[in-house]
Amino acid sequence: MDESLQRSAELLQYIQPFMKEKEHLNKAQDNAAAFLEYRNKILTLLNASPQDFDSWKWQLSKRFTSVDLLSKILPLKTEELAEIEESIHHHRMAISPFLLTRLASCGTPLSKQFLPSALEILNENFGELDPMAEEKTSPVPHVTQRYPDRVILKVTNICGSYCRFCQRRREHGCIDLHVPSEQLEPAFDYITKHPEIRDILVTGGDPLTLSDRQLDQILQRLRQIPSVEMIRIGTRMPIVIPQRITPALTKILRKYAPIYINLHVNHPLEVSPEMKEACRKLFLSGAILGSQTVLLKDINDNPMMLRYLFQLLLSIGIKPYYLFHAKDIAGTRHFRTPVEQGVNLVKSLRGVTSGLAIPHYVVNLPGGLGKVALAPQVLVNGFEDNPLLFTNWEGKTIPYPNHD
Ligand code: SF4
Repeated sequence: MDESLQRSAELLQYIQPFMKEKEHLNKAQDNAAAFLEYRNKILTLLNASPQDFDSWKWQLSKRFTSVDLLSKILPLKTEELAEIEESIHHHRMAISPFLLTRLASCGTPLSKQFLPSALEILNENFGELDPMAEEKTSPVPHVTQRYPDRVILKVTNICGSYCRFCQRRREHGCIDLHVPSEQLEPAFDYITKHPEIRDILVTGGDPLTLSDRQLDQILQRLRQIPSVEMIRIGTRMPIVIPQRITPALTKILRKYAPIYINLHVNHPLEVSPEMKEACRKLFLSGAILGSQTVLLKDINDNPMMLRYLFQLLLSIGIKPYYLFHAKDIAGTRHFRTPVEQGVNLVKSLRGVTSGLAIPHYVVNLPGGLGKVALAPQVLVNGFEDNPLLFTNWEGKTIPYPNHD
């Protein structure tokens, strides 16, 4: 056989197992009938209309916070209900009606992320409440600074739904609280007085739970600071309440463009048709979309799953940016994987998918000391050797001429 055809046949073998898995995963995405069934069930339970369901404010105000209501939608066993009841006394639960339809129709990968579990209580004394030392790296209230030129600005503790593994669990408290605008003034003042700060990540909680007016004010204030070059918004709203992406919101984003929107997506089943449409609207508003994914045990710690997720995100205009090693947060140890597994997962992506589909795998160091990016080892010998020996994505060792 011609050498190039032989190589082509060889390459095909690498991708065949994934093509089979992709077919299976594509089918799992298609659950429109189940979505409608659960949506109608929720509407009946809450005595609401389809128009209510399409309103983001309704979604936010009707988040499921009690076991009693939850049990009317999800077919949970008595022991599971008791487990949830006990866990929510330790850390509150809030699940939007939209997300609940996804939980009900997609099952484990979503329910493990959002439903309280007894493991949280079991792991309560392991890990730290604030592993990133945010409290100690906060020069003024609501600002966290870990690097010389960028800061995090926390504007709310409210999220469209609460993820059980959240690094800011400690801030969810028991009430919803947007930071009043006058309380953000010291933060704006700090950024203004530090012209070296050029990049602001607006986060929370989820900043897209703010009203249009509040968000507009914050973006306007930041754009008025001459040294601010980049504004990023971290959000999970397109996944949990995609109705939030309204024409009024996209108009605001367009006004302050370019705005970098960093979505948090962990599993392909979070990419609903509604989420895709929300991202299309964000994209058309001029927002630059990227994603971060937390590596979660028994949820997405699977090479095929991650490959599928990252390719799916790229196909809708989202560049996978970070794959985070899960932090050691009190009550969440059951979500963590070994660091070596993360490196091997990234290794499994090399060569078999576009470079754009491969995020940086990062570990956040304790004490607010920043991120380290981990990559698979590819150099077999040392930099002083000639030739250098590299291992390629197929595991072949290839000599490469060093200097001279
Ligand atoms: S959306 Fe983000 S901030 Fe909110 S609970 Fe989830 S991970 Fe935490």
